[in-house]
Amino acid sequence: MAEKKGKKKDPKEWRIDIDAERCKGCGFCVEFCPKNTLAMSDDFNSKGYHPPMVADPESCTFCDMCEMVCPEFAIWLSSDENKKQEHIADDLVRMDRMPHIWCPGCGIGTVVNTFIAALHDTDIDLNTTQIVSGIGCTGRVAGYVDLDSYHTTHGRAIPFATGLALGNPDQKVVVISGDGDLTAIGGNHFFHAARRNVNMTVICVNNFTYGMTGGQVTPTAPQGSIAITTPYGAFDQPFNIPFIADSCGADYVARWTTFHVRHLQNAIKAALQVKGFSLVEVISPCPTLYGRRNKIGDGLDMMKFYKEKSVRFKKDQHTTADAAIGFQDQIMVGNFVNRERPSLIEAMDTSLKNKLGDKYVQWPVPG
Ligand code: SF4
Repeated sequence: MAEKKGKKKDPKEWRIDIDAERCKGCGFCVEFCPKNTLAMSDDFNSKGYHPPMVADPESCTFCDMCEMVCPEFAIWLSSDENKKQEHIADDLVRMDRMPHIWCPGCGIGTVVNTFIAALHDTDIDLNTTQIVSGIGCTGRVAGYVDLDSYHTTHGRAIPFATGLALGNPDQKVVVISGDGDLTAIGGNHFFHAARRNVNMTVICVNNFTYGMTGGQVTPTAPQGSIAITTPYGAFDQPFNIPFIADSCGADYVARWTTFHVRHLQNAIKAALQVKGFSLVEVISPCPTLYGRRNKIGDGLDMMKFYKEKSVRFKKDQHTTADAAIGFQDQIMVGNFVNRERPSLIEAMDTSLKNKLGDKYVQWPVPG
């Protein structure tokens, strides 16, 4: 397992490694580096992208922001002492499948980094962790993550995961899928999983569009936003995902953007440790089909947009109803809900024990 990152490191033992060929030139690492250690080089890699370079190695504090934010897994901190190259995602991303299919500046790879970093921060057994994805660009996550992974049919990630969770109550079930998959064709499953407090964590990557099929409008697209199916702007009321999850009774609800990698990592870590239904919505750039069409720009422009538009949720001032997103308007971010209700498995056990007494045999059989 990769060594925990983010701690102060001895610069004599640590260095930054860059896989220039894997880079798609999004510029996230340069923008996020708090010390201006990195710069875009003038060189091109074989695919025509400018990779970053270490411009001022002395300034680096080895904070690992570049590694966390890079959606291509193309930059990481290495320990010279261990003589080992080690990306935080090395042990859980199938690096032999890189480069992945996601576009330059797409945020899905950043979400994968934060998820893996969060998983490493817990003591959850990786051998009993299951990842389920539906269809779409985010649906590819299950295929890239080296855990027990299931790439299911469109909209059916949550019912598939419900079966896994009920059949294996001692295992951790995580759904990672997109807004189209989870809130359109899969919307009904989403409500009921939250209502029933099914034992699972759902990470919904919300980029307001169906990226893989050409950029149709999704149920989360803000009114006025342009999609290939709404060339004059979306006119119907979008879903406010945290509000829905909250009102259905989910135990844990949070929203961050790919700009907030540390908060996102902590929110996913908290969500993974919840017994019932936990939801983390991640607002993530689809520069190819949402950003450019809506004149926000490329992936880096979208990250800057998230930084500028994000406002923090304050428990004493806001409710999840305030987390609705308007076109080019503020994005409320925060950890909205953290409560404890009986999970579906607990509710089922309690009810059946009361009714059946000793005849009820809990699954898995304790001991
Ligand atoms: Fe990402 Fe959009 Fe490209 Fe899909 S189409 S990989 S969501 S940028």
